Amino acid sequence: MVPEGESAQAKAADGGRSGIPGENEQEGSMTYSTENFVRRAIVGLLRGEYAGKFLCSACLITLTHQHMQRGWRKSEIERSMEAVFTAPEPLTCMPTSSCALCQKTTACLGALRP
Ligand SMILES: [Zn+2]
Repeated sequence: MVPEGESAQAKAADGGRSGIPGENEQEGSMTYSTENFVRRAIVGLLRGEYAGKFLCSACLITLTHQHMQRGWRKSEIERSMEAVFTAPEPLTCMPTSSCALCQKTTACLGALRP
């Protein structure tokens, strides 16, 4: 009897279908490009549908996840969200704000200038 190892982790095949060929071809920069996508999605949300509102990371993760719909894993978005909160430009991070969606008082992100 051969015990099957947990080799499923190697299944994380990423085709690199970013939709923007040739823009960012650096190997090993997957974290960066994921962050880039997440950042762009957040900026899009906070300048569009949620203009003038501040949202917490939990709500932004949910919204971004729905918004992107490209098989992104939520854990990847969560990790990128941390990076965006650390360096939110061109957005603004309010350390203690009230989330427009869940009403929680926590760190929120918003676009002050459209
Ligand atoms: Zn919230």
